[in-house]
Amino acid sequence: MQENIFVIGHKNPDTDSICSALAYAELKCKVTGEKYTAARCGEVNAETTYVLERFGINEPEFVASVEPQTKLILVDHNETTQAVDGLAEAELLEIIDHHKIGDIQTMVPIYFRNQPVGCTATIVTLLYKENKVEIAKETAGLLCAAILSDTLLFRSPTCTPLDKETALELAAIAGVE
Ligand code: MN
Ligand code: MN
Repeated sequence: MQENIFVIGHKNPDTDSICSALAYAELKCKVTGEKYTAARCGEVNAETTYVLERFGINEPEFVASVEPQTKLILVDHNETTQAVDGLAEAELLEIIDHHKIGDIQTMVPIYFRNQPVGCTATIVTLLYKENKVEIAKETAGLLCAAILSDTLLFRSPTCTPLDKETALELAAIAGVE
């Protein structure tokens, strides 16, 4: 049996944490052929539920806490207080985030991609492009929704021209206005 690797956002998840976990797990599966599972460590909010229903995607698996040595990729956070319970004993493989650098420490080097943009979904979209993987229509919809949500429709002070450009590209792929 293939070892499962969880891709998980922060506690009290927002649309970016859920949609970026789903989209990045999908990208990792496609690139590596290994098993990556999107997960969440909290209830999906009403906005995210709407987005998932709109694009016909199931919510990520609920994980209250992770077992020791569980392989993990964190998206949309890099602070221990926001992370799934059990992180300290887990094996952290990657972090993809857009927040200020937090307090997470590792024993070995990991892939840590942090960019000062408005949304993790913007970085996940860049990773699809860098890996030359086509973005499925539904996945584009999720990523686009995450950007609109995190940037408050491009009005947040953290929103960058790259977020806007990326959201418009994703909207075209998803076939939404
Ligand atoms: Mn978030
Ligand atoms: Mn975010």
